[in-house]
Amino acid sequence: MTNEEKFFIENIRKKLKQALNAENFIPLHEPNFSGNENKYVSECVNTGWVSSVGKFVDSFEKNLAEYTGVKRAVAVVNGTSALHISLISVGVKANDEILIPALTFIATANAVTYCNAIPHFVDSADDTLGIDPIKLESYLREISEIRNGFCYNKLTDRRISAVVPMHTFGHPVDMEKLIEVAEKYNLVIVEDCAESIGSFYKNIHTGNFGKVAAISFNGNKTITTGGGGAVLTNDEELGKFIKHITTQAKIPHRWEFSHDYIGYNYRMPNINAALGCAQLEQLNSFIEKKRKLAVKYKNLFQTIEGIKFFEEPKFAKSNYWLNAIILEKKYQHLRDELLSELNDNNIMSRPIWNLMYKMKMYENCPRMNCETAEEINRRLINIPSSAKLAEDFKK
Ligand SMILES: *Cc1c(COP(=O)(O)O)cnc(C)c1O
Repeated sequence: MTNEEKFFIENIRKKLKQALNAENFIPLHEPNFSGNENKYVSECVNTGWVSSVGKFVDSFEKNLAEYTGVKRAVAVVNGTSALHISLISVGVKANDEILIPALTFIATANAVTYCNAIPHFVDSADDTLGIDPIKLESYLREISEIRNGFCYNKLTDRRISAVVPMHTFGHPVDMEKLIEVAEKYNLVIVEDCAESIGSFYKNIHTGNFGKVAAISFNGNKTITTGGGGAVLTNDEELGKFIKHITTQAKIPHRWEFSHDYIGYNYRMPNINAALGCAQLEQLNSFIEKKRKLAVKYKNLFQTIEGIKFFEEPKFAKSNYWLNAIILEKKYQHLRDELLSELNDNNIMSRPIWNLMYKMKMYENCPRMNCETAEEINRRLINIPSSAKLAEDFKK
């Protein structure tokens, strides 16, 4: 390493360490249980209602629908199952191609595969980190055609039935433009809102722009139910169907076991929903803190040469689930050096995911040129983002 490179890395480490007061280990994202968590979870244990029925599941679904502004929310066991059910519920069939970002967490691609459908990878926009609707449109113009009202991939002769925008680190995709493209090519939109609870696109909560949306409440997300997820929809009939198939598709009866569909045991247990109810009560205060932390980071990185803080897109109010910094091109070869330096000094940091088509299961899937996603992958690093850091931050 040259002296300039050494200075670059040490300078970031010093300034972050001082700002975060990193005497002890600082995780990337830790849960915060300072509300009614103990009270509600104890209530489940004390009454015996820990499992498949109980009032917290109903309350959690109702409160979640209210917060996000959708007609129906269905609580499930995790974000991955929420994505799986979302795809089934919009009629994704075996051998369909589903457009998903090349740059996402593996669960998005796996959920497509669970439907025996095929992920088809799309490039990212550098101002949102999510699907680039403009590039997608010109790509579809080139490789697809409409037959009998459906979009087909001319190269594989398979139907392209849906597109799954994922709101990366809570930053919304440009949905207006994406909706335009989806309408033109007859694609159903399924939003992967795993990371975007509390994120708004033009003042409307993410998850209202597709036919359905999937959220995750894993332990590292903005709010957690231990493990958990939810499907959101503004279509009440579809909402009922989703509730039905996530609860083994059992026809209600006093004793009879009758089922009318191949259902799933994806229902969220009451004890997890109890945690969720307590977390949801604090969501607004978490978001406020996370947004404060983002401003502090932004100010800090304005004083550091060679790196910039990733800010929410103009049309968005993001939850800043995970804060991200982007290395200038001339320093991009130092990504792993910087990761070592930070992780060695109590500051947990991570690269963004590897591109989906770099994994052996997905290397032969159809895709467009993903040069922006590759670029983001080379240059982006996530830094500690827990809500409570807003208070600990020096300066
Ligand atoms: C977390 C996450 C998921 C999966 O959620 P789980 O609750 O862990 O199953 C899916 N997609 C994205 C983009 C995620 O970040």
